[in-house]
Amino acid sequence: MDVTVYSTKPYDRQFLDAAATGQDLALHFLEARLTTDSAALARAGAVCAFVNDDLSAPVLRVLADRGVRLIALRSAGFNHVDLPVARDLGLHVARVPAYSPHAVAEHTMALILALNRRIHRAYNRVREGNFALDGLLGFDLHGKTVGIIGTGKIGEVLARILSGFGCRLLGHDPFPNPVCEALGMDYVGRDEILSRSDILSLHCPLTPETHHLIRDEVLPLLRPGMMLINTSRGAVVETQAVIRGLKEGVIGGLGLDVYEEEADLFFEDLSDQVLHDDVFARLLTFPNVLITGHQAFFTREAMTNIAETTVENLIAFRQSGRAPHEISVEMIAGKP
Ligand code: NAD
Repeated sequence: MDVTVYSTKPYDRQFLDAAATGQDLALHFLEARLTTDSAALARAGAVCAFVNDDLSAPVLRVLADRGVRLIALRSAGFNHVDLPVARDLGLHVARVPAYSPHAVAEHTMALILALNRRIHRAYNRVREGNFALDGLLGFDLHGKTVGIIGTGKIGEVLARILSGFGCRLLGHDPFPNPVCEALGMDYVGRDEILSRSDILSLHCPLTPETHHLIRDEVLPLLRPGMMLINTSRGAVVETQAVIRGLKEGVIGGLGLDVYEEEADLFFEDLSDQVLHDDVFARLLTFPNVLITGHQAFFTREAMTNIAETTVENLIAFRQSGRAPHEISVEMIAGKP
């Protein structure tokens, strides 16, 4: 089966080639992102896509016209796929439901620790011979209240890590997780988790319900000086509102691995170019903002699992017309 792989980086190719060794798959690697234009390059068979590839209705129509029957996502999140249109076109969509919740939860913890102890600033200071401690004051995580919105696979691993730090755990999820409850997590409503959390970490999928979950009208609910961490999807947070929260001091620290408009920035080396995104540029000016470019998933273990599950989806589809990890329209609401 021909598989057109979009948004290929050298590391994608390395892990996919290894996983596909000995399998009857012809992988065609393209560096281009999937767009309405690049969709015309797809071969009949399957397309393999990543988080910032465009899988909106016009692109899906081009793919279907070209004889594509399966879209194999190299991600867990599928908010970027127009699933009703895919279904109407007879396109199957499969994903990698879990590749390493540890990778994302551990990166989340890295953001919390680095932001709290100002490691990003201390690193630069020490290199410049500045050993002053002013501005580097942090707080003990022990005894602090951490709210986790979305206590699925990643939220659960984070809860276990935070429990080891001696944090109090609050959760908000339409489906409480017994493992989190056993750790002592209290499940509370949205307003309560916003108002009681010293640190709030987002681990829900991006759905119509979670879109701009953090927006202007919830800022007054937040604990003054709280820390907000988003490693889920950019649009769960309204960036302009968060900038206002940072300016007012309501948000005392912001850690982001995802950004609403990341598709035009992340995964590329743009260091020689002028930054055109003024909102992103404003975020970069805050000393208490730490941004990574959607790298939370990026561990050897996760990349191996992503590649192996993707190949598993492709092989099973070629053999039976069904992939083991297909996504259905009903899953748009949030829970598989
Ligand atoms: P999961 O499906 O195991 O868990 C998601 C949880 O969110 C579920 O328990 C679900 O019930 C809950 N949820 C759904 N709607 C909600 C709502 N309105 N309010 C509160 N909770 C809600 O998913 P996961 O594997 O833990 O991944 C979570 C998200 O993390 C993914 O959807 C993806 O967007 C993101 N992610 C980011 C990276 C990265 O590299 N930054 C990597 C993987 C996943």
